[in-house]
Amino acid sequence: MRAMRLTARGAPLELTELSLPPPGEHELLISVEACGVCRTDLHVLDGELPDIRCPLTLGHEVVGRVLAAGSAVERFRPGERVGVPWLAYTCGICPYCRSGRENLCVAARFTGYTRDGGYAEQALADARYCLPLPGGSAAELAPLLCAGLIGYRAYRAAGEAANLGLYGFGAAAHLLAQMARFEGRRVFAFTRPGDGEAQRFALELGAVWAGGSDERPPELLDAAILFAPVGALVPAALAAVHPGGRVVCAGIHMSDVPAFPYRLLWGERQVSSVANLTRRDGEEFLALAARLKLKARAERFALADANLALERLRSGAVTGAAVLEMRTPAAVAGPSARP
Ligand SMILES: [Zn+2]
Ligand SMILES: [Zn+2]
Repeated sequence: MRAMRLTARGAPLELTELSLPPPGEHELLISVEACGVCRTDLHVLDGELPDIRCPLTLGHEVVGRVLAAGSAVERFRPGERVGVPWLAYTCGICPYCRSGRENLCVAARFTGYTRDGGYAEQALADARYCLPLPGGSAAELAPLLCAGLIGYRAYRAAGEAANLGLYGFGAAAHLLAQMARFEGRRVFAFTRPGDGEAQRFALELGAVWAGGSDERPPELLDAAILFAPVGALVPAALAAVHPGGRVVCAGIHMSDVPAFPYRLLWGERQVSSVANLTRRDGEEFLALAARLKLKARAERFALADANLALERLRSGAVTGAAVLEMRTPAAVAGPSARP
């Protein structure tokens, strides 16, 4: 099978032929249909996260069908569609795991970072961390697995905000905007200054206002979620929220937050981050996404064009979410195989 692999930090991914071992006891061997391209992949590629091992297959928004299952797997059968999210493994015994916070597990492993991910025709994943997915377009589902899911965790952390600001209107924000609108919230979308296309896209999805991240919204916000990896947006967002308002940083990496006057935090404003996901987040979010018929707007790329997809994401050229599609359907057979 073919994979696009990171062989050296900062270098373009290389198309590589490799074969995977049979699935371990708890693992699934998956024929990948589509894999989302997330900003975190750029942070891994650029070496902005610690302990990057090479070679490595990136990609943690994996949609595929089960080709084979390990001996201990009961949840999934060959032919079934599964999603592989960022959280790939947790220890189950650390204080975080034992207190319902497996997203903070001290021994966690992550798809496309500390184990191989889905920029590939096939992938191995621990079935205990995979999520069942409905039928439909794999490319439209893939972004739900991180942009949607971790966006949802940030959305909950933002609380009952009637006026919600979203800084960085990409894969996560375009999904959250749909959800927020459904729940009757008013979305204020902040894009790169001058990005008229992203602003129009936000308004199309129901935002009540869209402007540059250097602008002040026409009304104060109850909460803001930062998806753009720009630390300078923290004081900007604090200045845009009411007293008691929250600013939630949703990315795994951000440039340094500049010094800012204490009065921006005063008034019981809060700044927090969200990290990773729990399996419960995944199940809750996917059930909600199914109810809302939530779909990503996907810009599709062939596997071999992964570098192009990453560069378009880096330059802000993607509207919605970038997704790699594997166009080589492997022969999938099984009792629950669907067309
Ligand atoms: Zn991600
Ligand atoms: Zn743990």
